[in-house]
Amino acid sequence: MKKFFYLFFFSFLFLSCTKTNVDSKDSISIVTTSFPIYDFTRAIVSDVNNDYIAENNFTNVDIKLLIKPGMETHSFDPSPKDIIDIQNADIFIRMGGESEVWVDKIISTSNKLPKKILTLKDFVETCTSLSEDEHHNHHEHDEHYWTSSKNAIKMINAILQSIIELDNEKSNGKNITTYQENANSYIKMIENLSNEIKNTVDNSENKLLIFGDRFPFTYFTEEYGLNYLAAFDGCSTAVEAKTSKIAELIDEAKNSKAKAIFTIEMSNKKIANTIAQASNAKVLELHSCQNVSKDDFERGITYAYTMKSNLDALKIGL
Ligand SMILES: [Zn+2]
Repeated sequence: MKKFFYLFFFSFLFLSCTKTNVDSKDSISIVTTSFPIYDFTRAIVSDVNNDYIAENNFTNVDIKLLIKPGMETHSFDPSPKDIIDIQNADIFIRMGGESEVWVDKIISTSNKLPKKILTLKDFVETCTSLSEDEHHNHHEHDEHYWTSSKNAIKMINAILQSIIELDNEKSNGKNITTYQENANSYIKMIENLSNEIKNTVDNSENKLLIFGDRFPFTYFTEEYGLNYLAAFDGCSTAVEAKTSKIAELIDEAKNSKAKAIFTIEMSNKKIANTIAQASNAKVLELHSCQNVSKDDFERGITYAYTMKSNLDALKIGL
């Protein structure tokens, strides 16, 4: 009995120490389109631990992620249930890139709208991808704005502001301090990792990343002064790379004595393996965080976690 009591007591203590959960009877409902938005919102309402892991259960805040873990972000189609969830949300947060035209359709045709709609693209500096499509000679817009840590921090601040406004309306602002503290510690974490990535790149003579894959990293490479070559010009659902392109990347990898050929998350790695075998390089992954696998989602990996794994990959591969 005594043993049971201690167990109970300590598990209670543990819970109350590790969670800075929100104390409010008025629940907040937040609907997010894609994983980075879900992650930034989660980090504001709960803790991210020193291993860059977060929990997916929150008290009094409901965060829905529409594009489920493991799903392809560039070809999403919302279900009728998704549309109802968006309509009933206190805050609906979207990125605002080209892959989210389905959101505009819902907003323009819906008879009921969420209380607030937040478009994160409006809070960051956007740039046009410099890579040119060889055949059509058009510039492709990279919509993976959050791969720049500076943009990620701007997004976190934008989400924080709208959650604060809502908390003022619903709970007399009693959770604001918690939200601000959580956001600040996550931002600090991201800044530290970003500085480490910057140091790693600055201390390396090689600044070239060769991607045997899709390329969602315009903002990332620009932030750290990296150059890149990629099998595909952008990110959206390309399948077959041109043979001439692969041959070019193999030559470049050999000439530059590349240590690694990079892939992105949830890739079949086929092209990268081909280039790596021909040029005697390793295959390493950079995680764009546009989505995570179901397992990684359940483990609670965060945007910061993917930054840490990218840092580790760059230390080996640059
Ligand atoms: Zn993408």
